[in-house]
Amino acid sequence: MNSYDAVVIGGGPAGMTAALYLLRAGVKTAMIEKLSPGGQVLMTSEIENYPGFPKGLQGWELADKFANHLEEYDLHRINDEVSGIKVGNPWHTIMVGGEEVRAKAVILATGSRYRKLGVPGEERLLGRGVSYCALCDGNFFRGRDVAVIGGGNSALEEALYLARLVNKVYLIHRRSDFRGQLCYQDKCFTHEKIKIMRNTVVEEIVGETDVEHLALKDVNSGEKSQLTVDGAFIFIGFEPIMDFVSDDIHKERNGILTDIEMRTNVPGIFAAGDIRSKMCRQVASAVGDGATAATAAFSYLEQLDA
Ligand code: NAP
Repeated sequence: MNSYDAVVIGGGPAGMTAALYLLRAGVKTAMIEKLSPGGQVLMTSEIENYPGFPKGLQGWELADKFANHLEEYDLHRINDEVSGIKVGNPWHTIMVGGEEVRAKAVILATGSRYRKLGVPGEERLLGRGVSYCALCDGNFFRGRDVAVIGGGNSALEEALYLARLVNKVYLIHRRSDFRGQLCYQDKCFTHEKIKIMRNTVVEEIVGETDVEHLALKDVNSGEKSQLTVDGAFIFIGFEPIMDFVSDDIHKERNGILTDIEMRTNVPGIFAAGDIRSKMCRQVASAVGDGATAATAAFSYLEQLDA
């Protein structure tokens, strides 16, 4: 069984930052990542609020910069999926791709996955008009009409991105007030290609082989209607990816519980980024979590060896 001082699970901004800090502190570190490094950032069209990039940059560009920075260090990379963690003292065991690795410090940084609407037609028409990624699928809808569902930053940002490509974006939100930042609200509300539909819910996504229309309901009047669109982009939030995390580690619906140093209730296990139960889900805060978790893990390892 391979042994490391520290294993970081997840290669998004939080995981890559944690790995960077651990390696720079001379800690023998492995990073486990199922796909390619980047996480949710790879699916983000434009990032305008990461300090140092006033003109904004594409999500994949930022992910690339993080990954390139890590290339400078002796990081052991494991490309596979983690299926579980056995909590131990001082060694924790991680089940990954049919094998086991062990580490004295583990940083959980698997991030989050998109939340589903849970309406009829959503699963069946996935990839046939239903999408959770404007950057990946927007191009298929050039010159056509699409709906964006949601009222947070993701919905607003991705509506603006799609408006560059498509004929019309219907931005459908279940309430009157939007949750996303005012600067994005202003841009969406004044955009000639974006039509705002407030107090409206999608009851069904309808189509034989591809999306043909949405069955909508006005939540105030109860009035039902149909909206003809070719695509339905759903951005209604994210859920932490923590299925592999056993109940030994305290968590709630919104994520893993940590203290301000990113320590979980289990000595030697830390969590950073979107997997954590917290309010602020930003690249900048994920990076901060990663640095904090790595620093706490480093002092934990030092105390173990003292
Ligand atoms: P979010 O902020 O949680 O917003 C989710 C939106 O979807 C809310 O408007 C919510 O409506 C709506 N919603 C939730 N469940 C729904 C359902 N079943 N049916 C219809 N609508 C539903 O999610 P997000 O926009 O994906 O953002 C996630 C986190 O990432 C946030 O912390 C956000 O600030 C951050 N983020 C930041 C940026 C940025 O700063 N540039 C970009 C993207 C994301 P209600 O408002 O009624 O609850």
